[in-house]
Amino acid sequence: MTTIRLTNSKTRKKEGFVPLDPSNVRMYVCGPTVYDRAHLGNARPVVVFDVLNRLLRHVYGAGHVTYVRNFTDVDDKINAEALRRQQAGSPGTLEDLIRERTEETIAWYHADMDALGALRPDHEPRATEWIGAMVAMTADLIAKGHAYAANGHVLFRVRSYQDYGKLSGRSVDDMIAGARVEVAPFKEDPMDFVLWKPSTDQEPGWDSPWGRGRPGWHIECSAMAQELLGDSFDIHGGGLDLQFPHHENEIAQSACAHPEGSFARYWLHNEMLQVEGKKMSKSLGNFFTVRDLLDQGIPGEVIRFVFLMTHYRSPMDWTAEKARQAEATLRKWRAATAGITATAPLPGVMEALADDLNTAGALAALHAAAGEGDWVRVKASGDLLGILTDDLGGWATAPQVDLSAQTRRFADLRTAAMASKDFSTVDALKAALIAAGVEVRMSKAGVELVPGPDFDPAKLEALK
Ligand SMILES: [Zn+2]
Repeated sequence: MTTIRLTNSKTRKKEGFVPLDPSNVRMYVCGPTVYDRAHLGNARPVVVFDVLNRLLRHVYGAGHVTYVRNFTDVDDKINAEALRRQQAGSPGTLEDLIRERTEETIAWYHADMDALGALRPDHEPRATEWIGAMVAMTADLIAKGHAYAANGHVLFRVRSYQDYGKLSGRSVDDMIAGARVEVAPFKEDPMDFVLWKPSTDQEPGWDSPWGRGRPGWHIECSAMAQELLGDSFDIHGGGLDLQFPHHENEIAQSACAHPEGSFARYWLHNEMLQVEGKKMSKSLGNFFTVRDLLDQGIPGEVIRFVFLMTHYRSPMDWTAEKARQAEATLRKWRAATAGITATAPLPGVMEALADDLNTAGALAALHAAAGEGDWVRVKASGDLLGILTDDLGGWATAPQVDLSAQTRRFADLRTAAMASKDFSTVDALKAALIAAGVEVRMSKAGVELVPGPDFDPAKLEALK
């Protein structure tokens, strides 16, 4: 059997992966807070851990892996949006509107991540469906002396857990100095974090021994992982930004509630995503969602391919140029592998993936095989990486047309129209292009014409 090696954040070493039970390899990955569309950075862990899930299934058997990824559907941003809708006159109770918002966001998330070829996890627990387990774990932590109730809140007593800070390699005192800790008069120590907090009438709440309230974010993952995977399981994953405090707090809660277990044995963290060399941010104007890219006509498979070009432990840079290269490569590979039935993947691809999920190395092996014309192996290895699959292929068979002449003509007419303030000619051309199934995208940068799903080459020809 292939030995998988993974860099364990807990030990800061690359280690041979030995599951507790090879007949049921268990992995938990922190999922999204469902208040809005997933941005491109949110999609990175989804693709990274999807590749790991596929690799584990390949090595241990598809029926021998349990992959859990949660939905955080208790959050102030969700409440705020529901409240905004209620104030804008939407019918229904606040609870109905919260449910409506989380339902639509989960549906978007599924559609967007499906488009990236990510297999759905085996379990996708929603926090609101496991409140009982969170209350029980919180009560247990109080009983064991690791938490205390104060002022309608329940707080975790950080100094009661000696190993706190081990994952991120920091001492509690260093963390106090560096972190934005919330100082509250009812806290025993500034580092203590919330397990339960009171809810106002305008916030969702559940009855508990500490009054009507809602769980803190960290306890959600500890409780759901415990319920679905047990007190010891194999892999816990998430973005590097979650290492502290979220994962540190998950460990503290789980280790103190279940000292007999080991919680997660291997911790994997993916590095962050940038756009054209800059941090993605709304203020820089380079903030976009997965849906934005899909709507621009960039196929989900191309986005996935760009992600795979960078090792998960390195920062990854999304660039338009990479997307262009990925699209050209995939178009070529798809044409060459059409009709081929997948068999065993290339040894080089397996080797690279087993070596700490080296997706860049796996793609290099694919390029080499493609260079030799070994399309059978390219196709089979693509399956393991979640590319060249039948589900994702629609885009590559869509007609490829050269619209450059029309684009130039349109741009010239538009420039002339802006000068003369007479837009009748450019409007007429736009209408004719749309009638031919061409999408016309205009921005400050210029004009872009893209063949849409109803593209009709004969109608375009008639325009010449
Ligand atoms: Zn989590």
